[in-house]
Amino acid sequence: METILVLAHADETGSALTRASLETVTAGLELAARLSAPLTIGIVAADATAAANALSTTGARLLAVSGEAFAQARYASDAAACEALCRAAKATIVLAPGTSRFTRVAASVAHRLGGFIDTHITALAGTETIEASRWFYRQRVEAVLNREARPWFLLLDAGTHAAFAAEPATAQVEQVAVQLPEIRTTVSGFRAPTEDQQTIRPDAKMLLVAGAGWTKKQPDGQIHAAEASELILGFLHATSSSLGSSKSLVDQGGEGNFVLPFLTHLNQIGQTGATPRHAKGLSTCCHGEEPHVVGWRFIADRRAISLDPNCGWTRGKADVVYIADAFPVIAKVNALLEAKKA
Ligand SMILES: Cc1cc2nc3c(=O)[nH]c(=O)nc-3n(C[C@H](O)[C@H](O)[C@H](O)COP(=O)(O)OP(=O)(O)OC[C@H]3O[C@@H](n4cnc5c(N)ncnc54)[C@H](O)[C@@H]3O)c2cc1C
Repeated sequence: METILVLAHADETGSALTRASLETVTAGLELAARLSAPLTIGIVAADATAAANALSTTGARLLAVSGEAFAQARYASDAAACEALCRAAKATIVLAPGTSRFTRVAASVAHRLGGFIDTHITALAGTETIEASRWFYRQRVEAVLNREARPWFLLLDAGTHAAFAAEPATAQVEQVAVQLPEIRTTVSGFRAPTEDQQTIRPDAKMLLVAGAGWTKKQPDGQIHAAEASELILGFLHATSSSLGSSKSLVDQGGEGNFVLPFLTHLNQIGQTGATPRHAKGLSTCCHGEEPHVVGWRFIADRRAISLDPNCGWTRGKADVVYIADAFPVIAKVNALLEAKKA
């Protein structure tokens, strides 16, 4: 019989679990129920009490590695913590969130335990065996993996499961002792870009995509780049959406043309860009060509604003297309959002 371990870690508060960790808890509960296998949840946090209490209704065995050394992400301490939790749980299947914190250490922990790891898992199925799905070739080919090797580590992509949520209650947690190696890295703090600089937000409910149309000549024969910047940033500010771009728009810089200053190739969505997961997406001033739209595969509700009634979006690629000028539409939406906030 399999023994399933979910590895979870706290967010920057040091006590609450990250959303991706709570999604992995859901995946663990579903898998354990399907396989009729015991479930253990291992928590890495400065103080695991609140996180454990939030998981009390899962019925899982709760293990924790806690203390100041585990308040911050750091390779040596995180790898030691995960290794200790895996050994304590005697896990054959280890599910972990594909966060930067755990992605950094999971492969080495699997190696230390003589196990095997697969990453970017999006779904788990099977009742007799475990069938783990992941996408290849820019999300075009879906593979279902099955392995004999144990322990088998599976890193789950964020946004693929509902986050576990329940009323907290006092939980019994078993503290796991960790033999820390010599620590050479001291975490002195975080430096993060300000809200308006950081436009890529994987956890946002909505994706706003800007296409090259924002920097093209408009019906009055002029380019309205400053206004375009203001409208896009205004929308992001009001909604905390993530910002995506078409390739054409970010490529313009290389051709010496005007580019919106807050966009880089990291914002690019599509075949040669990113394939993010958001509940909703709004494309603006973008044609909706196939190499771009392939990056929208995991956007649940797709809408587009384009001047062109024959654009790619109108050919069945978006759920709703507004044939309209995005400048006045976004200006109006921003005004409504501001009024709602006030
Ligand atoms: C191998 C390969 C890989 C590629 N990979 C990618 C990729 O990963 N991502 C990607 O995006 N592209 C990719 N492309 C390019 C892709 O095919 C398109 O060229 C690109 O997506 C077009 O970008 P766009 O729609 O922003 O620009 P355009 O095609 O210039 O379209 C601009 C649109 O804006 C509209 N518009 C203008 N003004 C307004 C206004 N005021 N209001 C509303 N609408 C307005 C116009 O009607 C037009 O439809 C790839 C191409 C190839 C060959």
